[in-house]
Amino acid sequence: MTSTDVPQIYLDHQATTAVDERVVEAMLPYFNNKFGNAASRNHQFGWDAEQATQNARETMATGINAKSREIVFTSGATESNNLAILGVAKMYAPKGKHLITCSTEHKAVLDPMAALENAGYEVTVLSVDAKGNIDLNELRNAIREDTILVSLMMANNEIGTMHPVKAIGDICHENGVLFHTDATQAVGKELIDVQEMNIDLLSGSAHKMYGPKGVGFLYVRRRNPRVRIEPVFYGGGHERGMRSGTLNVPGIVGMAKAFEICLTDRDADHQRITALRDSLQAQLAAELTHLTVNGDENNRLACSLNISFAFVEGESMLMGMSGIAVSSGSACTSASLEPSYVLRAMGVGDDLAHSSIRFSLGRFTTQQEVDRAAELTISTVKRLRDMSPLYEMALEGIDVASVSWGAH
Ligand SMILES: *Cc1c(COP(=O)(O)O)cnc(C)c1O
Repeated sequence: MTSTDVPQIYLDHQATTAVDERVVEAMLPYFNNKFGNAASRNHQFGWDAEQATQNARETMATGINAKSREIVFTSGATESNNLAILGVAKMYAPKGKHLITCSTEHKAVLDPMAALENAGYEVTVLSVDAKGNIDLNELRNAIREDTILVSLMMANNEIGTMHPVKAIGDICHENGVLFHTDATQAVGKELIDVQEMNIDLLSGSAHKMYGPKGVGFLYVRRRNPRVRIEPVFYGGGHERGMRSGTLNVPGIVGMAKAFEICLTDRDADHQRITALRDSLQAQLAAELTHLTVNGDENNRLACSLNISFAFVEGESMLMGMSGIAVSSGSACTSASLEPSYVLRAMGVGDDLAHSSIRFSLGRFTTQQEVDRAAELTISTVKRLRDMSPLYEMALEGIDVASVSWGAH
């Protein structure tokens, strides 16, 4: 995309969010006036920075019903996930070398799991149904004597489907297995209570909740049970030895401010964004046939709408809709032509996966933007379908799926 056609309407909040002005304001003093190193114990600069991170730690902890000493600051959810998974794997190796996750997790969970497999661990990858839900019985049956960790996300970043974390936490605790959840898409949007939900480790990231990029946190339970993790970075022993490295004070202050705003506005935002999302879906459904909603319509994030527009290619749609910033389940990030592995895991065929678009709404989305996005999407899909022989065949009642295409 060139700079001349900068998207006007941002509907990609599951990729990242704008930093809220109030967050920017809270961060500013920590770049210059209060620039101290939070680990400097001998002067006011250090004490101010330390106090700011301490306050932020309290805010993060309170927001998930944890204690401040259970919060470890990181560079984002990728690091948090790696620290949780690799850290538990190393620490608990004497107890066992089996871990459980599922096929629709973020790569920041699947890739460290794969690295562990290469290092002699065993990983069970649970399957999901057509809506992205796991089967709790499959989870129960997968737990073994040597299982040390279950890692299952709270809400999926592509389709918005929410896993039943409380039920998962209960099963893990009954079996004496640690439970990590990548809650990056849910923090600030959904109610999270690590006590009630029996969560032992939880990852979050500031830039998915109107905070800055490059800062996140990992909750590590200290009581019932006391979770111990081997560090991934070694150094100055910051964060009680779990994550060495000078703290990103402005980022941490920003993340806490962002979380605080999310918590204050959560119910109102949830209602408003759900209504906008439903309006977008209804407008598309009113004007277009052959739509498939990917994910669980009765159990998904308020912001999330993932739709496959049969007979059109996601990449072509993105080009046609250059006034809207959205994501496609078609491969545009990788060199390969593989469609979204999440949709594939749900049994969505390659054609429908390639024709999927993820719309994700946010705090600053307006009804006007939704209406405009619906209009642009509808006209683009209609135009592309008008050029599609497959669509014409479908209209004539030919079962396109049954046609053999020869070399394709
Ligand atoms: C964005 C995201 C991540 C990665 O977070 P970063 O802070 O960008 O590293 C991990 N998991 C999920 C579910 C995400 O949405």
